[in-house]
Parts: sequence; C-alpha cells; structure tokens
Amino acid sequence: MKTQKSSAAFREAQKYIPGGVNSPVRAFKAVGRDPLFIDRALGSRIYDIDGNEFIDYVCSWGPCILGHASEPVIEAVKKACEKGLSFGAPTELETELAGMITEAVPAIEQVRLVSSGTEAVMSAIRAARGYTGRNKIVKFRGNYHGHSDGLLVKAGSGLMTESVPDSAGVPEGYAACTLTAEYNSRDSVERLFEAEKEDIAAVIVEPVAANMGVVLPEEGFLAFLRDITEKNGALLIFDEVITGFRLCYGGACDYFRIKPDMVTLGKIVGGGMPLAAYGGAREIMEVLAPNGEVYQAGTLSGNPIAVTAGIQTLKELKAHPEIYSRIDQNAETLAGAFRKKGLQVNRAGSLLSAFFTDRPVRDYASALTCDTKKYAKYFSGMLEAGIYVAPSQFEAMFVSAAHTQEDIQRTVEAIAGN
Ligand SMILES: *Cc1c(COP(=O)(O)O)cnc(C)c1O
Repeated sequence: MKTQKSSAAFREAQKYIPGGVNSPVRAFKAVGRDPLFIDRALGSRIYDIDGNEFIDYVCSWGPCILGHASEPVIEAVKKACEKGLSFGAPTELETELAGMITEAVPAIEQVRLVSSGTEAVMSAIRAARGYTGRNKIVKFRGNYHGHSDGLLVKAGSGLMTESVPDSAGVPEGYAACTLTAEYNSRDSVERLFEAEKEDIAAVIVEPVAANMGVVLPEEGFLAFLRDITEKNGALLIFDEVITGFRLCYGGACDYFRIKPDMVTLGKIVGGGMPLAAYGGAREIMEVLAPNGEVYQAGTLSGNPIAVTAGIQTLKELKAHPEIYSRIDQNAETLAGAFRKKGLQVNRAGSLLSAFFTDRPVRDYASALTCDTKKYAKYFSGMLEAGIYVAPSQFEAMFVSAAHTQEDIQRTVEAIAGN
C-alpha cells in the first residue's frame, strides 16, 4: 500500500496544526503509524490521497449512518447552499428539525440546536444546574462527553468523592464539581448519592458506552439510574451523541424504554455537518434564555446547511426503517467473525467493538485489560486488506446502510486473516 502522499501531507500539516490534526485520535498515535489523508468518500468507501480505497467502518465516528455522500442529503445541501450559508436569524428549517427530534425522542419536548456534541453536553449540564439549583454532576469513568472543562476529569484518590483534572489546563475547581462513578456499578452511584445527595444536579451517562470501546449497560442499570435520580431530585441525562438515531430511530430511550429528563444528540442528527442538540421536558428547557435565566447562545447554532443535512438524514432513516435491521444483522455477522478469533465482542445494534482481551468488558477497568499492541497490529493488517477501522482499541466500529453483503464478506475474511 502506497502512503507517501499521506505521510508528506502529515509532515506539512504538522508545521501549521498542532500534531498535524484537528482532533487527536486522527493522528493514529495509538497504532503507531502516520494517518491517512482523505480525498473523498462515497457509500461504504473512503479514498485517501495516495489513491487507496477502503471499506470504511469509522464513518466519521458515527454521523454517516447512510454511508458517505448519500445522494438525497447531498442534493438537499446543494440546494440549501444556493440560498446562503448563514443568516443569524430564525428559519423554518430549525422548527422542522426540532419537530422531528421531539417526535423521535419523546423525552425531548423542547430542543436547542448547537454545533457540536461538546457544546450540547456542556449546555445541558448548565441547564440542569440552573433548573435544580445544584452544582455537582455525576459521570462514569470511561464515558466521554466532549472536551468541556468539567468533563475532562478522573476519579480522585481513596474516599474523596471529588474528581481531579484529566487534562492540563483544567482548574481543580471545575473538576471538583464532577463526581466519578463506575459504569455498571450501582454501589458506586449509591455511595456518591449518600455523600452528596443535596448537591447533585444530574447524572450523565452514555446509555451504551461507546468511547471505551462499546460497553453495554447491564440489565437494570439504566432503570436503576432513573430511579435513584428521581428519588433524590437530580436529573438523568442520556448522552446520546452516538446512540441517538443509531440503536434505532428513537435512540437509547426507545431501545431500553427509559425516559431520562434530558437527552443530548450529535453525530447522526447533523448528517455529517457540525450540528448537535440538547433537549428535555419543556419545564426544564424553559430555564434557557431568552425565557429563563440560563444563558446559552451560538452564532452558527441552527445553521441552515447543517440543519438541512440533519433533516434529510432523519427523513431517510424514518422512511427506511429496514435500514436498522440490516445494519444490525451486518454488525452481528462481523461480531461472529471476531468471536471466532477468540476476541471479546460487545455489540448494540450497529455499534460494536472487538476487544483484544480474555476478560468480558463491562467497565473501564476491564476495557483497560486489552492488549493495545495486538490491536495496532490488527489495525495495520486490516488497512493493508483495504479496510479502515478505528485507529484505537477504545473506539467503536460503525456499520452503515451503504455496507453491502460483499463488503461485509470481504471484511469477515480480513478479520479471519488478521
Ligand atoms: C462524540 C461524542 C461527544 C462529543 O461530540 P463532539 O461533536 O465531538 O464535540 C459527546 N458525547 C458522546 C457520547 C460522544 O460520542
């Protein structure tokens, strides 16, 4: 496989962009090679600047559930562009998308559109704090909610409930407002509520964790979170930036039949454009300016091009519910190929991870038992076989509607050989 052009592009990028990338995972550090620079993508395929073609299972980290450059989406976006790229004033398109979101996710009665998942989560937490008048939040180790200060934290030592910064540049004061629990551990959540129940504004959770590899919630865990938050006057926030419109059209709320107080969306909801959303019960969302006292704003929020891509993507998903059963089945076929190799496989719908460990992965500690060197070797082997998977053990594999039976078969063979 030729990679000279990508490697040269990477050296050039490093002159002007920190690490040569605009988001760290793209640098391929975890797999010890230079990243591929992408020229274009279509359907299930992605093409790099050296002319290599790959079957893509990163799918822009989730948004491209219809496959790349889906025709109805591209056509709608082209038309929208001709009317102007941004107005900084309301459009009917925003109401249309908001209506589609509230219809798909009944927990959302009102919704705000923003430009990234990070922004959606950060704003949802501010609203939760404004609504409850409390300051602390609970998050789970190994769950990712974007890069806002209060969420780049790790558990403090020993009996301390407060977290500490997990990134330089995050003040201890921000980290201290976040309490860290263990995914799938009821005890760890109960302990935090015992110690801090008067101060906990919200528990935020990835209903299927997909940022430490895919880790499923154990039976009853989400219902337990619903229950303990309700009993203690705290809000339950489902971070559905990955799971929304992915597990099924109604996301994790529908998939697990749990009604959180707030939901954050991103990735698929923008159809590949920078768009995300957060919403919840009307009573909660009314704390937001201009009606309420919680400030949140955005020059490009509800951008007409991004909103158009979102609307068209959701329309396609809604009109073709058979997409979900097909991508689930294809994901299961891939899961079977990984199991045959003796790997640990976690799958929810079209999201899956194969872990290079002998132990079942149910939380962050068990995810960390993986042999990342073996993953790096597998990754390179897959690339050579023309298959682009996540350049990290701790990211999900995404199956899209554009993956054909032939793509899946080729991938199964590559898995067996790598
Ligand atoms: C990707 C992701 C985010 C952050 O979204 P960005 O658009 O990258 O800021 C937040 N939460 C979850 C669960 C995610 O997967």
